[in-house]
Amino acid sequence: MASGTPPAFFTVDVEDWTADFPDLSAPTRLAEPLSRLLDLLARHGTRATLFLLVGPARQHAELVRQAVRQGHRIGLHGLDHRLVYESTPEHFLRDVRDGRRQLEDLTGVQVTSYRAPCWSFTRQTKWAPDALVEAGFEVDSSIFPTKNHVYGIPDAPIDPYWLRRGLAEFPPSVLKVAGRNIPFGGGFYLRASPLWLTRLLARRATSAGRAVMVYVHPWEVDEDQPRDLPYTSRLGRAIHYLNLRGTYDKVDLLLRDLGPFEPLPQTAAEAARFIG
Ligand SMILES: [Zn+2]
Repeated sequence: MASGTPPAFFTVDVEDWTADFPDLSAPTRLAEPLSRLLDLLARHGTRATLFLLVGPARQHAELVRQAVRQGHRIGLHGLDHRLVYESTPEHFLRDVRDGRRQLEDLTGVQVTSYRAPCWSFTRQTKWAPDALVEAGFEVDSSIFPTKNHVYGIPDAPIDPYWLRRGLAEFPPSVLKVAGRNIPFGGGFYLRASPLWLTRLLARRATSAGRAVMVYVHPWEVDEDQPRDLPYTSRLGRAIHYLNLRGTYDKVDLLLRDLGPFEPLPQTAAEAARFIG
């Protein structure tokens, strides 16, 4: 970590609530919760990195352009929400190349940062970083230094590092406790933990000179999304709906207490400042 106050990064994975349930055909609900989240960020004067899925970004192009005008940065979350370890090197390279081009056309800004759907860069996808470099990306945030039933590389570095020459990796926040990486500050982990615990872990990381990263999805501040549908995965359903009530307030308080937040760097030159 470079000298100075450790940064706090704020990121949003912009996808509809149904991204977790690809088998369901259900109505889109992205516009309202995304607007709420953008309003909340504006109220705190916070600029974030928005990782966009191309389809929803096209459907809500005006909202996305408004976010760019508000100073948010744009990264790619994929052409679709297909997991990278279920893809092939050829398909993935096509996906990130096309996705990048389409987002740049849509937003008018350069897109050089990427986050894989469901943190799906794992030990099975050693080819994926090379494809990102080939497609012109310079910053990645796809490797979760933990292990669960969907994703993770438990012994991956926990602070920003060079994943390849010219490609910086910014991992989501974990704190090492008794040799284990405890995730905090984003998605399910943010919703599952009481606010005091998230604050405590974040402050421990900060006082050790480490960067903190918050990540949220618009659907996590949407309490009223449909619940009684023919879900194919009970575990997936349980994880998705946990503690949706109260997440908006939690994010509001984190923005107040742990800020100021900033977006991720988007070039290798800019990323170098954060890599010790
Ligand atoms: Zn996602």
